[in-house]
This record gives sequence, structure tokens and C-alpha cells, in this order.
Amino acid sequence: MKILVLNAGSSSVKYQLFNMDDNTVIAKGGCERIGFDGSFLTHKPTGKDSVTITKSMPDHKVAIKMVMDALTDKNHGVIASMKEVNAVGHRVLHSGGDFDGSVLVGDNELKIMKKNIELGPLHMPANIMGIEACMEVMPNVPQVAVFDTAFHATMPPKAYMYAIPYSDYKKYKVRKYGFHGTSHKFVSGEAAKFLNNNNLKTVTAHLGNGASMAAVVNGKCVDTSMGLTPLEGLVMGTRSGDIDPACCEFLMNKTGMNISEMLTYLNKKSGLLGVSEFSNDFRDVLNAANQGNEKAKLAIDMFAYRVKKYIGSYAAAMGGIDCLVFTGGIAEHNSFIREQITEGLEFLGIEIDHVLCEKATGSQISEISKAGSKCKVLVIPTNEELVIARETLDLI
Ligand code: ADP
Repeated sequence: MKILVLNAGSSSVKYQLFNMDDNTVIAKGGCERIGFDGSFLTHKPTGKDSVTITKSMPDHKVAIKMVMDALTDKNHGVIASMKEVNAVGHRVLHSGGDFDGSVLVGDNELKIMKKNIELGPLHMPANIMGIEACMEVMPNVPQVAVFDTAFHATMPPKAYMYAIPYSDYKKYKVRKYGFHGTSHKFVSGEAAKFLNNNNLKTVTAHLGNGASMAAVVNGKCVDTSMGLTPLEGLVMGTRSGDIDPACCEFLMNKTGMNISEMLTYLNKKSGLLGVSEFSNDFRDVLNAANQGNEKAKLAIDMFAYRVKKYIGSYAAAMGGIDCLVFTGGIAEHNSFIREQITEGLEFLGIEIDHVLCEKATGSQISEISKAGSKCKVLVIPTNEELVIARETLDLI
């Protein structure tokens, strides 16, 4: 069985071709600058050198045709024909609450997804374009949509409701949905396997440029930090995370920003970038902090403090915590932030082994808690593409 996983962004398409017999990646790559001058495809067959093909890609259909050509190319291809691909799994941002799991996409599902564009205007049009392009260029191959929100569908109403008039929740579907679902699902599942225990109260912290957390009880999500959109929750690379909504009116009055400029400000100009005033990249900010830059240090402190607060609140929500999982580019690679986040959490049974914490690189699952720690602390490299491939396989 071979499954192609696609992640279509507004000007990019990333792909991985999986052999599901042994869960290995046969090839991966991506098209960049779709719709712009200078578009190119990078293709990496496993175990061979990568190739870069520069060619005009006016739209996603052309890009996906190029991916197919790369996969079947005589020299750097990995399959003889696209007939070998059993299905395509697409990463889709928002289910809008209409799907509580992955779906095989037909016309009706496309219609529902289009209705939900307003819930994810930056990502949904590209996600849908990717599916439509595949339906056109490989009409007989099943297309499956795997939603970033789906893992969070098990949250109870007290967790997903906002305390606004109920009629607006009903009318407009305004509620917390949560994102990074494939990652939280993958790492909480891996943690259960690693600890050989399916009855766990787990907190998963996905700390990358986008960052979110989830409270997971016995494999089911009961709360998560992102909301109607990915803006809520943690301090992120460029997003503010939680903020008093009244700040918006105050700042708009002071600066003359309109509402959409305000949202760009909170989504693209805030977070680590906003506080440090020079970079959204955690490495840059940490280097500057280490060299004495006060704003960079404050940004890192705020980042860690917010994660710590969420750990505490999720432990309270779940009535305890058995396992804390770190994943995502920042948490997988950086021991300093893991130390800073967990410092002082011994009262929750979280005791870090500093040598193990320092050693964990994110290349494999590592336990970084002390042998006797009541709460196990793990670093687990996430693999969102593999989850999408597995969900796709399950559906077909
Ligand atoms: P996303 O998928 O959300 O774009 P990633 O999960 O790839 O993000 O994480 C990107 C972040 O990880 C960046 O802020 C980057 O600086 C950080 N990062 C990567 N490697 C390291 C490292 N060795 N130490 C600290 N941060 C790192």
C-alpha cells in the first residue's frame, strides 16, 4: 500500500509518499512559490540525492502534476506509475465541527469544506485547491481529508464553549476547535505505547513556530489551547496567544488600525517577534537572550511561563497528570526551554533528570524525568504526515 500525503499552503505544496507496509517514507519534497515568479520543486527520494526542478507553476494543479512527474520520473522517480498510489491524504485546517474524523472527499464534503472557508481563510482555500487539483489529475484515486481540528472533537462543551450568548454559538459556530490535532494525537499515542499504559492523564506541548497544548485523558482530548483560530493560547513565533480582547479596541483607538490590521498585528507581529522586536525564530531569540538582550529574555520567559500555566491548568482540569510530552521544533531540540518550563513543577510530581533532559535531541522518544518521577516527562518527535497517512489508510 502506498499513500501520498499532501499539505497544500497558499503558495506551496509539501508531499510525502509512504509505504504503509512498513511505515517508511519513499520520497518527500515540496513545491514553493506557486503562482509567483521563480517557482521550483524539491524532490528527495529516500537514500538518494535530492533534485530541484525550476519550472513555472501558475497554480496548484500544475504543481501537483509536477509532483506526480517527479515521483514517476525515470531517473529520480520512486514508482513506475501513479497507479501504484492507493490514496492521497490531505491535511485540512478546519472541520468547522462538521466532521469529527477524517473523511473520504466527494462533492458533498467539498461543499461543506467550502462553507467553512470563513473559519480558516488563510489555509482552507489552499487545502481545498490541493484536493480539487488531485481529483482532477488523478480522478480514480481516493482523496481523504484529515483535519487539524478532528482530534479535539472529543472536548466537552464546558471546554470548547466561549462564554458569549449561546444563540451566537448556535448561529455562527463560534467555539474553541483547536489545531495541531494530528500532532497531539500522534505524540499522546506514542507516549501511551512507550509507557505501555492506555489509561493516562497526559499533557502534550507542541512547541514550534505555531504552538499549542492539549489535555488528553485515556487517549481522548479534553481540552486544548488554540481556539476558533490558531491565535488563542500560548505565546508563539508571531502570535500573541491569550490576550484581553479589550486590548484590541484600545490599541485600534490609539493607533488607527482597523480590525483586519489588528488581527494581522496579533497573528503576524506579536509573540516572540513582537516582544523581542527582532525575530520570531526561537534560536535567534534565545541566542540574543544569552547575550544579554533584555527584550529577548523577556520573550523567552513569557513563552515558558505561559506553557507552565497551561500545564497547571490542565493538571487541574484532568485531576492530575501522569505524563507530559514535549514535541515540535523548539521542545524537541532545546533542553533549556524544557528545564525552564518544568522548573518548580515538582508539586505536580514532575521531576526532571537534568542529564537526560540535556541529552534528548528529538531524534527518538526520550524519557527525561527522574526514575522515580510520578509524572513521566517525554520528548517525542512528532510525525503529522504519518498520522495523515494512517488515517487515510484506515478510511480506504
Ligand atoms: P512549525 O512547524 O510550526 O513551522 P517547527 O516545529 O519546525 O515549526 O519549529 C520551528 C521552531 O523551532 C523555530 O522557532 C526554531 O527556532 C525552533 N528550533 C529549531 N531547532 C531548534 C534548536 N536546536 N533550539 C531551539 N529552537 C529550535
